Amino acid sequence: MSDIQSEIQADPAVPTTPSVRFADFGLSPDILRALSDQGYVHPTPIQAEAIPVVLQGRDVMGAAQTGTGKTAGFSLPIIQLLLAHANTSASPARHPVRALILTPTRELADQVAENVRAYCRHTALRSTVVFGGVDIAPQTAALRSGIEIVIATPGRLLDHVQQKTLNLSQTQILVMDEADRMLDMGFLPDLQRIINLLPKERQNLMFSATFSGEIKKLAATFLKNPVTIEVARSNATADNVTQTMYHVNEQTKAEAVSYIIRERNLKQVIVFSNTKIGASKLSRHLESEGVKASAIHGDKTQNERMAALEAFKQGEIEVLVATDVAARGLDIAELPCVINFDLPYNAEDYVHRIGRTGRAGASGDAISLYADKDERLLVDIEKMIKHKFVRAELTGFVAKPASAERERSGRGADARGDRSSDGRGAASGRSTQHTRSAYTSTPTTRKEKIDPWFLKPYEPTLAADVTASSVAPAGVAIKPPKVKLAALLGGLPKR
Ligand code: AMP
Repeated sequence: MSDIQSEIQADPAVPTTPSVRFADFGLSPDILRALSDQGYVHPTPIQAEAIPVVLQGRDVMGAAQTGTGKTAGFSLPIIQLLLAHANTSASPARHPVRALILTPTRELADQVAENVRAYCRHTALRSTVVFGGVDIAPQTAALRSGIEIVIATPGRLLDHVQQKTLNLSQTQILVMDEADRMLDMGFLPDLQRIINLLPKERQNLMFSATFSGEIKKLAATFLKNPVTIEVARSNATADNVTQTMYHVNEQTKAEAVSYIIRERNLKQVIVFSNTKIGASKLSRHLESEGVKASAIHGDKTQNERMAALEAFKQGEIEVLVATDVAARGLDIAELPCVINFDLPYNAEDYVHRIGRTGRAGASGDAISLYADKDERLLVDIEKMIKHKFVRAELTGFVAKPASAERERSGRGADARGDRSSDGRGAASGRSTQHTRSAYTSTPTTRKEKIDPWFLKPYEPTLAADVTASSVAPAGVAIKPPKVKLAALLGGLPKR
């Protein structure tokens, strides 16, 4: 396969700053011990810049790409600042909420919480995570016991406030993580309500991968004289990600994805779909091709999503097909590749998507498929990242006759009813030799053209099934799961 690849910048991102050590920041030995448990010695650039500034009590506006280590960049100094209040008293009153970290998605909340928990583990500080889609009772119990650091998604946080299980009146530090996504997801009114519940005197940290006018406006409303920390060029893609843009026919995209996965022998890849239906269909198509795949999107329960994510992390699932919202904030160590099955409607999402790979300095591959109808989306992305892609062909890919025929008959326009897809067949100057040969294959009848996988109702994967049964109401018989999947039960297991 001839790969015509384009890179944003030739030199790879530096994962850490070797001239600086965490010990140089004056962090407590308890924090340093937790860092050494993680194997971290040197800070990443955002950490090197943010930690001293946050320790000084300053507000921060951080333009941080995903995978830069920004979570430790804000959580380590927060823990340090709160250590003065750490105590082992059993009284909840001695453990008021002192830091609030808001994230747009449940997955990101969970991931940030996991980091905070790890960094606090040798201290007496308590942390917990609250997000929707799961039973509120255990969260209520945790909050009632007294918690210094709360990581939350806005909606569920407000539920707790309303139920009076959470009092924010002693919050000293507010973090808004992935603020751009919070606005995209319509959280602005919730954010304003939350800000109104906090003491006026507090430290504010805001992180965002991209900085639109709206984000700047939000920052101006609640940050006081902030220090701007911009480690990476805003609205730029991760420097260490190799990006490839393949032109394909709309109707053979699913096959093209399985071809790429097989050809590159990919064992851990996130594939992005713009729609929930598209994600489920693609996941089923990949499974029909023998690829271990699972879809995560907004229609799946939180437990299904977490089970799929964990199965993916454990290598039981090779391909996670995700929508943007579901994938937001996922940090899967050393994810080697992401594939854009659809180009995102919003160019900023391209930056977020490809940020899933090449994290913390590791190199990554971002492969995107685009059809003729996507040219405008492609140009939008190019404008945003200020880079012109080489439009490459997926050399060696041969579409199956049925798909090619579907394409030729123009019947396969997608679920959005877009019939302008590129059914140009051999006439297309961009079609590969192999695709052309597919177009000249023996025509099939209309009935045969429909891929039966696409007509089947959604069937949850085994992992999702097991987890769904784990949340069955009391009294409902639960079939014991297979031993191999037992680790997936009872919330997100530790990595
Ligand atoms: P984040 O951008 O905070 O999601 O972090 C991205 C990844 O980098 C996570 O997997 C972290 O565990 C990892 N990481 C964070 N800080 C460091 C560090 N100083 N050295 C090595 N890896 C790190």
